[in-house]
Amino acid sequence: MAELLKVQNKLLSMKCCLCKNVLSVPPIMVLSEDGTELKCGRCKNNNEKPSVCRNIALENMAMFFSFPCIYKNCNEMIPWKEVGSHEDACDNKTIKCPMYYQKCERNVQVPKLEEHCKRYHKGNIYYETLNCSFSPNEDLISILISSNQQFIIYITMGSKLSEIYVASLKKINECFTYDLKLSSTCNNTFVAYENQPISKYDEVDHCLRCMRSNCDLRGYPHTKVKDDVPVNKFLKKVDLTAVKLIFGDISKIRYRITIVPKKEYKDNNKESSSEIATVENHKKEVNIVDDESLETNKLKQCPRCMKYVLDIIFIVNDEKICVECGIELTSQILA
Ligand SMILES: [Zn+2]
Ligand SMILES: [Zn+2]
Ligand SMILES: [Zn+2]
Ligand SMILES: [Zn+2]
Ligand SMILES: [Zn+2]
Repeated sequence: MAELLKVQNKLLSMKCCLCKNVLSVPPIMVLSEDGTELKCGRCKNNNEKPSVCRNIALENMAMFFSFPCIYKNCNEMIPWKEVGSHEDACDNKTIKCPMYYQKCERNVQVPKLEEHCKRYHKGNIYYETLNCSFSPNEDLISILISSNQQFIIYITMGSKLSEIYVASLKKINECFTYDLKLSSTCNNTFVAYENQPISKYDEVDHCLRCMRSNCDLRGYPHTKVKDDVPVNKFLKKVDLTAVKLIFGDISKIRYRITIVPKKEYKDNNKESSSEIATVENHKKEVNIVDDESLETNKLKQCPRCMKYVLDIIFIVNDEKICVECGIELTSQILA
């Protein structure tokens, strides 16, 4: 028994050389030729140092033990196989405040993010719908509370391109999609991107600084590998040149983001009736025909040019048409 305790203590004393946490999440990879530098599964996307091989021997031994959760105030001891999933869902999970780009360096317990934002970032918290105006060359990071869940929304606004992503703080992202609507005070046209996918928030993979190639946070994967920033794959790219053709004056654009729960999620959460009402209203407004259309990234046919396109825009009279046709039509109206 005493011997086993020694083995466990030895395992607990070995740390990941990147995140400095206990090596309790597989795969455990060897990073140095002499075998002294190891990285844990939490850092599997961090390619700062190439891996030499996987340490199966260590994993085979570790699977007989339980490990503590890395988050403060959580006293659970978790079996080897469940450490990763536990930490992902742990109520004590702490993240860097997503507003740290605004010089907030605080660490926040995930369930308390709304509270934190109310206190420190009042202008960045929205309820049910995010509604903001265009401010060029700015990154906007907001928290949107919808269906009693917290979502993190990033909007970057360049001169030609605007990039958006919505991430969920819980592993419920497959239950929701979001609708993005661009509107303008210039005319009655909307540019709408419906049923966009929501990803699960990962503070490393979603690092905006990495995207901007000026990240110096230790343990973040893209300090060195600049071309392959994972956040890129979550981004919805909006071509502002096209949007400009539709609205004329780009400075008058407004962004509107709404979270759309999928039907199954609503059925399982029937107790919250007010929330369903909002969803129904919203459904009417965007005229979602059936649940099939909730599938993300499904190609849609433009009724005007008959082409199959990913993005549709729709004009006030409810006719949904593609971006190309939208530009053509509005340029006729504007001319
Ligand atoms: Zn690690
Ligand atoms: Zn925990
Ligand atoms: Zn903060
Ligand atoms: Zn980064
Ligand atoms: Zn078309």
